[in-house]
Amino acid sequence: MAILADRWSAHRSAKLAPMALPEHGRTHDAILAELAAKRAGDVRWQEGRTFGMVYDGGESVHAVAEAAALMYLHENALNTVAFPSLGEIQREVCEATAALLHSESAAGFLTSGGTESILCAVKAARERGRAERAITAPEMVLPSSAHAAFHKAAHYFGLAVHKVDVGADYRADVDAMAAQVNDNTVLVVGSAPQYPQGVIDPIPELAALAQSVGASFHTDACMGGFVLPFMELNGHDVAPWDFRVAGVTTISADIHKLGYAPKGASVILHRDKQLRQYQTFVFDDWLGGFYASPNIQGTRSGLPMATAWAVMQHLGVDGYRRLTSATIDARERLVAGVRAIEGLTVLAEPEAQLLAIAAAPGYEDRVDIFAIGDALLRRGWFHDRQTPPDALHATVSAGNAPVVEAYLGDLAECVAEVATTGGTDDRSTNYATLD
Ligand SMILES: *Cc1c(COP(=O)(O)O)cnc(C)c1O
Repeated sequence: MAILADRWSAHRSAKLAPMALPEHGRTHDAILAELAAKRAGDVRWQEGRTFGMVYDGGESVHAVAEAAALMYLHENALNTVAFPSLGEIQREVCEATAALLHSESAAGFLTSGGTESILCAVKAARERGRAERAITAPEMVLPSSAHAAFHKAAHYFGLAVHKVDVGADYRADVDAMAAQVNDNTVLVVGSAPQYPQGVIDPIPELAALAQSVGASFHTDACMGGFVLPFMELNGHDVAPWDFRVAGVTTISADIHKLGYAPKGASVILHRDKQLRQYQTFVFDDWLGGFYASPNIQGTRSGLPMATAWAVMQHLGVDGYRRLTSATIDARERLVAGVRAIEGLTVLAEPEAQLLAIAAAPGYEDRVDIFAIGDALLRRGWFHDRQTPPDALHATVSAGNAPVVEAYLGDLAECVAEVATTGGTDDRSTNYATLD
């Protein structure tokens, strides 16, 4: 990621002294001008040139989200006795999501994002294992494609992880995972779709595996939760993944991804209220009084909750169907266009909005996909990079639909350019950063 790294080190060396709080407060105008200047180096998602991180639902979605954000900027969902509106918003968003995922009994909470939803699911599985099966050394079984957040959860909550290689089609390998399931297994995981190559794991088989030992099963639909239901309504064949599948106990679905809401909103759903109790934390022996907390946060901003509610109400089923149709059409054009460029391929067969672009078989020594990523970035196109194998990742959303052909033209140019300029030594693949 040489060119991003250059940008970052230039930014750092420009200011040698650590910044202190200004001695005297600054004016509104000066502050906004400086923030605008800071943003100048950020990716241009507003132009559809970013394949991930910001998902653009269009102007009317921005308008309703911004108005709701202003209204709920200062509110705190820590105690919904003080802010009953936020309790209501949470309940309505969870109920609407449960209905999309085909459950009348599912219950859950809003969280700050996919990672927090996954942390909650893993913690609930651990508590359930302890309560129902007296498990003191909990384990979980994951395909190698499962999101890094599951490893973070294992690290936080003290679970052992069995990470199992995916098959040649990048889907979870059911037999290999079955070999790792045992009496200490509290959770088995599959994704719909998995992030790296965008394929849907065999959820019914994996959930049955979990059920066979009384363990929980999580479908990670952080990406698919607000896409797959609408693909199905639009007439696509979608592999089974939601609460219609026996044995699925929890599902995560991020509203701040293809739900098109601003950052800070995801839903964690449990199959029923009985299972949901394993997620919550209650403490009644504090000088501060009775403390009950549904998820990881204490103080909780009302802003992402209200904006998520507002965007979902604004789009409705027909709005999401329209954005999903634009997204899947764009993904199809992208996949076909990439495969038409000599030397490039798309890994596996993407089933929703995610795909990975790599050197075509036989071209691995000649086509440096990361150098192509650098050349694209110089033209303003941003991809996350991943490995193995080396690939540029794309999360396609409706905001990318108008620029697919422009992108493909630039991509072909970049391939030709790198064929003469050669590869890059920088093999880093930052999905996320520490500072
Ligand atoms: C994005 C993502 C997550 C993590 O969500 P964050 O909102 O980034 O915390 C988990 N699983 C999948 C499949 C994802 O795409």
